[in-house]
Amino acid sequence: MVPVFPQLVEKVYGKRLVYLDNAATSLRPQSVIDKWVEMSARKNSNLHRAVHKTASDATQEYEDARAAVAEFIGAASPRQIVFTSGTTASLNLLASTFGEMFVGEGDEVIVSESEHHSNIVPWQMVCERKGAVIKVLPVDDGGRLCIEELGNLIGGKTRIVCVAQVSNVLGLVNPVKEIVDICHARGCPVAVDGAQAVSHLSVDVTEMGCDFYAFSGHKMYAAPGTGVLYGAADWLDRLPPYMGGGEMIRSVKWSGSTYAAAPQRFEAGTQNIAGVPTWGPAIAAVRELRGREGEMREITDYLLRELPTVEGLRIYGVPSAPEEKIPLFSLTVEGVHHEDLALILDKMGIAVRSGQMCAEPLMDRYSVTGMLRASFAAYNTIGDAEYFVESLRKAVQMLR
Ligand code: PMP
Repeated sequence: MVPVFPQLVEKVYGKRLVYLDNAATSLRPQSVIDKWVEMSARKNSNLHRAVHKTASDATQEYEDARAAVAEFIGAASPRQIVFTSGTTASLNLLASTFGEMFVGEGDEVIVSESEHHSNIVPWQMVCERKGAVIKVLPVDDGGRLCIEELGNLIGGKTRIVCVAQVSNVLGLVNPVKEIVDICHARGCPVAVDGAQAVSHLSVDVTEMGCDFYAFSGHKMYAAPGTGVLYGAADWLDRLPPYMGGGEMIRSVKWSGSTYAAAPQRFEAGTQNIAGVPTWGPAIAAVRELRGREGEMREITDYLLRELPTVEGLRIYGVPSAPEEKIPLFSLTVEGVHHEDLALILDKMGIAVRSGQMCAEPLMDRYSVTGMLRASFAAYNTIGDAEYFVESLRKAVQMLR
């Protein structure tokens, strides 16, 4: 069944909403909203605790979602799926626990130059705490990771390499499998930020071979406040607990506590009872919308062709082959401020993002204060892309 996104018929300033801010958060299909309401209205109960029927129904929904997510990303077992509140929470959990256990004084953590702040700052915090240092894997002018430098960057003190599968600014699909192979050949684990990848690419973490994979539900049609940290093999059981509290323990005595195995070890306290079960319908919607891959490709090709015809426009994240880019375009236009453009486009009904996009080091790399970003989801159409380019041309003319 084709998913219905009720917000697509909303009007802003009397104009049809053209929502091109999907990299920030996607719209939600009716199936997700229905599940969310059903959990709140009819199945609300705390999880994993009580013996009553409603509790067991809610727990079943929650654990079904874990199994659905595991299957969706090709994890070997649902036990490898930790539910969090989003990518930021997943990466903080990882940096904090991995850092506690495996990062020491003088050690190194490699982070790519195109990471979102949430895959930079948690590692900076742990490195500061432990007296370790961050090393940066650079990107070239086109936005591609300089992976030929990775082998030399990894040394005896490198503890982990952290990269996004797709940057939220560049929209380029990074060669994560190749990165994993380079790192593993040197005995180094890899954490992948999949926040921008999961809705656009078929992800198989087992085939990719990464050690950790983090992503958010709200960027792939699920409820906000839902996220995942995947850990390969026995990685999760090797990490110490993160937050202490209910349900993450085996036993609590005044003499000390012992902890549950993963994933419960990392799910302290009351979880997102209504939100987590929306993973099921969200995954179904992603799969259903894969049928629109052809039009997504058409949108990407169209924008790669048309945007450069706007005078003074620069695209950040230029692929060497079109299939290396998802329909996410960040750009600047010479002599025109990105925020002014965004404000005018808003009046035309187009929702885009402007600013640093939580990637300040990348803005510094290109010596810009910010960019304009249009990010498409599978419910957008080639007509939306055409209207965006036409409106952008008008906005640029107005501001010049
Ligand atoms: N990483 C990337 C690549 C992202 O695009 C985002 C969201 N913009 C995040 C991490 C953070 O995700 P969240 O806000 O859902 O925690």
